Amino acid sequence: MKTHTEALKSFITDVPDFPKKGIIFKDITSLLENPEGVRLCLESLLEPLKNKKIDKVVAIEARGFFFGMLMAQALNIPFVPVRKPGKLPRNVLTQSFDLEYGSDTLEMHDDAIRPGDKILIHDDVLATGGTAQAACKLVESLGGQIVQCNFIMKLDFLEGDKKLGPYPIYAAISY
Ligand code: AMP
Repeated sequence: MKTHTEALKSFITDVPDFPKKGIIFKDITSLLENPEGVRLCLESLLEPLKNKKIDKVVAIEARGFFFGMLMAQALNIPFVPVRKPGKLPRNVLTQSFDLEYGSDTLEMHDDAIRPGDKILIHDDVLATGGTAQAACKLVESLGGQIVQCNFIMKLDFLEGDKKLGPYPIYAAISY
């Protein structure tokens, strides 16, 4: 019988050389197409959160939104989107971060987090960690406390956990 992790891995599609040569893109659309896979993935993400108090789920555009929203509904707590620049309509906080080549920016509504809010950060993939780290900084600059950063999968060879330093990390799958 397959373990949960093996079963989950079977729903992820490796796409070589996307978006550029040398990158193996971990495609979750094949997971999203499968209700059993989605259920399994959601269970796996929720299991380590049992007995943890979480006030809000903060998820990162765009592939973080799928399971971020499902978790928020399952936990019956608010969902907060972190988005690319210029997408959110009200006052925002902005955080820039370095990519392998160049830089990127994320935004969050500046009234989305209250001081003391206990926050779950979610994205689909933890790679180098810069994206999740930027989301953590946005939350902390509004006084939120990171309870956990969770991901469908993490790519261990890119050592993203180093960037996320003090924050507890959980990934349903590791490569
Ligand atoms: P990073 O900031 O390096 O941790 O990159 C994380 C972000 O890039 C996430 O939002 C992922 O969706 C995306 N990402 C990075 N590497 C991959 C990959 N190999 N396959 C799919 N998405 C990736």
